[in-house]
Amino acid sequence: MSAVIIDGKATSKKLRGEVYEKVAKLGAMGIKAGLAVVIVGDDPASRTYVNNKKKACAECGIYSEEYALSAETTEAELLALIDKLNAKEDINGILVQLPLPKHISEDKVINAIRPDKDVDAFHPQNVGKIMTGDFDFLPCTPAGVMALLEEYGIDVSGKRAAVIGRSNIVGKPQSMLLLHKNATVTICHSRTKDLAKILRESDIIVAAVGKAGFVTGDMVSEGAVVMDVGINRNAEGKLCGDVDYAAVSEKASFITPVPGGVGPMTITMLMKNTLKATCIQNNINLD
Ligand code: NAD
Repeated sequence: MSAVIIDGKATSKKLRGEVYEKVAKLGAMGIKAGLAVVIVGDDPASRTYVNNKKKACAECGIYSEEYALSAETTEAELLALIDKLNAKEDINGILVQLPLPKHISEDKVINAIRPDKDVDAFHPQNVGKIMTGDFDFLPCTPAGVMALLEEYGIDVSGKRAAVIGRSNIVGKPQSMLLLHKNATVTICHSRTKDLAKILRESDIIVAAVGKAGFVTGDMVSEGAVVMDVGINRNAEGKLCGDVDYAAVSEKASFITPVPGGVGPMTITMLMKNTLKATCIQNNINLD
């Protein structure tokens, strides 16, 4: 079997078009959607992500403000900026690009963001809502995976799903979102025994490990759906995921490539969350 390649770029383009239309509807009501992006320090990967987020805002008609702070910024200064953005009326969503320099507590900063402006869905209040299923914002990367499954008509209900990785950003919320769609979910991590056996018994695999070529062809059963969240560099310095794409795509029914799979969806989901935040803050339902 040769897998259907899930096109994250095309799906992103379509969804960003939908966000643009809704943002335009808000505009016609005199309401502007606005996102503040905060970056501390000059990590090149973070800079690329921030630039891509600003580009996506422009594509969706969302107003954006960038706050680029030096690596020497103190925790108190950053918290003061968050306070200011929490109160700023033309800002509906606040995104603080992680990681932050070591001397700043990420937890303190995340906890300081107003939950209804927390478009990354990292605030404990939003994390709790993801657990109960009563959520306003979905965490961007796991939500991107779910949107791709939906776009390709892949029904998750009753399926055995394995998520590799248990981070707060990807693995844990991904497991919850699959569970909410009635999958039977196994969360695998660095201490999991017989990982290959669990994967072979799975209908859906989401890999979020951060190791190039981690999921090999012999770990995947014929017809499985394989979603690759990983972003790595291989020995030649080329961008690649956690999945041995050449071998696994011969067995899977659907597979996401890296680049061009889950990656573009993360920022698209951020745009959706910013739109949602604007609607919530203005008491408007556009769904
Ligand atoms: P992380 O380092 O916080 O977590 C990695 C997880 O992998 C851990 O929970 C760990 O238990 C698990 N793991 C490590 N070794 C393992 C092993 N041998 N067997 C089983 N599990 C093992 O990373 P993260 O932030 O969750 O990110 C994971 C990957 O996803 C990274 O490559 C990251 O760059 C990528 N990522 C991509 C996007 C995107 O937009 N596509 C967004 C976030 C993260």
